[in-house]
Amino acid sequence: MIVDHDVIVLGAGLAGMRAALEAARNGVNVAVVSKVHPVRSHSGAAQGGINAALAPGDSWEIHAFDTIKGSDYLADQDAVEIMTREAPQDIIELEHMGVIFYRDEEGKLGTRAFGGASKARTYFVGDITGQALLYTLYDQLLKAGVKVYEECFATALYMAGGECRGVTAIDMLSGELNLIRAKAVIIASGGAGRLYEPSTNALICTGDGIALAYRAGAPLMDMEMVQYHPTTLKGSGFLMTEAARGEGAYLLNKDGERFMQRYAPKMMELASRDVVSRAETIEIAEGRGIDGNVLLDLRHLGRDVILTKLPQIHEIALDFLGIDMITDPVPVRPGMHYMMGGIRTDVHGATSIPGLYAAGECACVSVHGGNRLGANSLLDTLVFGRRSGRAAAEYVRRTSPTATGEDFLAAEQRRIADLMARPYAGETHARLRLELGTLMDAKVGVYRNEEGLMEALTGVHELKRRYGLVAVGDKGRIYNQALTFVLELGYLLDCAEAVIHGALTRKESRGAQARTDFPQRNDAEWLKHILITHNDGGPPRIDFQPVTITKWQPQERTY
Ligand SMILES: Cc1cc2nc3c(=O)[nH]c(=O)nc-3n(C[C@H](O)[C@H](O)[C@H](O)COP(=O)(O)OP(=O)(O)OC[C@H]3O[C@@H](n4cnc5c(N)ncnc54)[C@H](O)[C@@H]3O)c2cc1C
Repeated sequence: MIVDHDVIVLGAGLAGMRAALEAARNGVNVAVVSKVHPVRSHSGAAQGGINAALAPGDSWEIHAFDTIKGSDYLADQDAVEIMTREAPQDIIELEHMGVIFYRDEEGKLGTRAFGGASKARTYFVGDITGQALLYTLYDQLLKAGVKVYEECFATALYMAGGECRGVTAIDMLSGELNLIRAKAVIIASGGAGRLYEPSTNALICTGDGIALAYRAGAPLMDMEMVQYHPTTLKGSGFLMTEAARGEGAYLLNKDGERFMQRYAPKMMELASRDVVSRAETIEIAEGRGIDGNVLLDLRHLGRDVILTKLPQIHEIALDFLGIDMITDPVPVRPGMHYMMGGIRTDVHGATSIPGLYAAGECACVSVHGGNRLGANSLLDTLVFGRRSGRAAAEYVRRTSPTATGEDFLAAEQRRIADLMARPYAGETHARLRLELGTLMDAKVGVYRNEEGLMEALTGVHELKRRYGLVAVGDKGRIYNQALTFVLELGYLLDCAEAVIHGALTRKESRGAQARTDFPQRNDAEWLKHILITHNDGGPPRIDFQPVTITKWQPQERTY
């Protein structure tokens, strides 16, 4: 089947739904394609909140400076300025749409403190902020009458004459592969957290859109910048939101010491995530951890604060470790959480491919640079989702009708049929995925060095070879998740290669890239973005792009 729309949005998380809503408001025919029901997107797992400089005494300039310092000066300052200037109006719009943000005793919008921020500027709904935002935006999407192709799995971008003209996607219910044509495509498919094991990310965060754009020739930027969150639960890796420390929780080592005083005496537990994750890693490596973990202590916050402001993490710790954080500290360790890098875009979401836009975690504008501040990602999805929706709608008005695509669809159907027909040769997607995640965590985690990165690259090449032997266990059509798992693994392997090449190229330590063999930040040589472009049959092409500096000159970064 071939269907037509003006704009296709690939992804129904916050970035995708905000982009679709804006495109619809601009009068074009827009449809959303999502591999899960929209409200099951990973945005729904966001706990802590969303940043904006709205409170008295705060300003967009201070928010921008905190963001740029947090990024270790790798963020593009023009993009950060846009995001922080536009943040307040986006928060107010969300309220008008129906998000019930926390209000203080006076009935005013209340904030909480978050890491790396010099003011308390995080707006929140308990510790289920993402879910509250996601449901509200979904309501708005339905109200605007946007067509949603849910449980529809994208397999390729349809390129014609160098322009992006749609996507092919498997309708999971029927198993049919369809071509959804459009004059513009916005990729909003989220991050690639599941490159790592463990990760705080949902199992569906497999970098699909990043890999699809990469395969279509769009450069990826800042891919080496992978954020480890300091507080993920022992064992399972579930997130214990930074809001816990925002509300005042302590981090303790095995001697009961608040060890952050030795690493970030001013900001303590609320230093940037890269700083806190490195501190914990050192504590654990030097024998001051407990069984590979440190402790998150909330006891002094009291039952009321925990049960009213942090009820979800209270329940998670109880369910998964049997620990009641009202009476006992919780073992945590750094765990993979977020991709700062992604598909390179301008501040309107445009990629280097005409007709192709990207927004949200899959994109790199870049507003997060080397390290994202907590609660800046939800903001990024809304601001740049909105901007890409508008830009794509404008692009559609000045572009000609879509090309045909029958041949492209037929070729893609053959590719999937060949994959389905592959005989079992002893390799499974599940084993390879676990091996990949474990390798990335061991060699491309909080600390990296040349030797480990080379091992990771060789390992990924070997996994890619074995991937060519993976068979699809289920030969049926309806809800064939065995097929989509195999396709997801292919996306992950492409993303892994880009991350490792970025990390090998950047011979310095900046933000989340901590190289033990190059421990210093080196602005003279490395104050620049690394671009990775797919190259059929060979290693990817590496290019550089200067960082846009407007008014904040790089300084030494202390917390
Ligand atoms: C546990 C957790 C807590 C977090 N807490 C916070 C927080 O408090 N504050 C904050 O600012 N940030 C937080 N973050 C980060 C933030 O939530 C994410 O970066 C952001 O929500 C990503 O939104 P998105 O719209 O880009 O992608 P997602 O919400 O991940 O949505 C991706 C969409 O793409 C679709 N998709 C993907 N691949 C395909 C395919 N092949 N075919 C069809 N559809 C596809 C999916 O179905 C989904 O709809 C948190 C992240 C996690 C994991």
